[in-house]
Amino acid sequence: MIAGYPRFIRKGQVFDLLDVVRGTETIVCKGDMRKYTSFYATGVYRGIATGYVVGCCFRCFYCWSEWSRDFPEFFGDFYSPNEAYKRILEAAKKWNVRKARISGGEPTLCKEHLIKLLGKFEKDNWIELFILETNGALFGLDPSYVSEISKFGKVHVRVSLKAGNPEAFELRTGVDRSYFEVPFKAIEYLLKSNVSFHVAAMTDPRIMPKEERAELIERLRKIDTVIAANLEEEICDPYETTIVRMQAFGIDPYRFFTKKVGNDSYKKGDGDCFLKLFKIADVEGEDASLRDLYDIAMEEMPSFLKIYGDLPPRIAIYRIYRNPRYQEKVRRAAERFLDERCKCS
Ligand code: SF4
Repeated sequence: MIAGYPRFIRKGQVFDLLDVVRGTETIVCKGDMRKYTSFYATGVYRGIATGYVVGCCFRCFYCWSEWSRDFPEFFGDFYSPNEAYKRILEAAKKWNVRKARISGGEPTLCKEHLIKLLGKFEKDNWIELFILETNGALFGLDPSYVSEISKFGKVHVRVSLKAGNPEAFELRTGVDRSYFEVPFKAIEYLLKSNVSFHVAAMTDPRIMPKEERAELIERLRKIDTVIAANLEEEICDPYETTIVRMQAFGIDPYRFFTKKVGNDSYKKGDGDCFLKLFKIADVEGEDASLRDLYDIAMEEMPSFLKIYGDLPPRIAIYRIYRNPRYQEKVRRAAERFLDERCKCS
């Protein structure tokens, strides 16, 4: 047991990010092996095979990960990159899905393991897309890590931001506020390295005040307009672990989860096809395909977008944006979308 290793946090508890990265890696990495608790497929992203890893370097009070996040010593077994690859692939074939990820903790811990695992999927014929969900800390601290990731063509990174200012970042994650900029640095490095990615953020209005949400979007807009417009906004759900963590943090889960969250839905109507693209994708998370969202919105998908139709919406938008034929139009639509959003929020 590591003395002082943070478990779930109480309001005001703060730790140094690098201490927790090192402490967690001591527990969950061994050579090129990493601890996992299970391998399965699930319905998110319209079906994805998942290796559930142990350990994270943040302590978000609303986190829904299993207790292995807080007590990594007690959970999981070590798997080599090859063993983990085989188990994830087995789940993918059993459930007939072509996407894969590792989830449940921070996948960028145990770098040697991750790089070797991605190498296996890169050569694999079954898996078409590997979604790397990260809090961005280790990418923001080490641009060379991002360069290594850029070599894998099947990888799409999803960076999840926790706050729009240093005080809120420290409060929600327990990580010292001096690291607030680090995930934004990760976004800059991903852009520069031409990695396929999008940004998500816990903008649930019960957690993030609307002024802070505006700060966060503005901050992203300064980095890249399309990245800001393509933001995936997260909502907090009452998982068992979330409820306990919230209570320990000092928030009454009952009062929290009985507050209603507004839900704007797409209204059929104006805007050119690229503006419409942002509005339609804004309705849902990543569990429907872009084509499904056009169906839900009762809009005809333009034929030139159909090749992106089976992808989760934000991955689709990023790919459309990276196509030189559409880049400028997507950027202009992103600007209009953000302007409209600022007026109504
Ligand atoms: S970064 Fe993700 S896994 Fe880690 S504590 Fe926060 S919500 Fe949980």
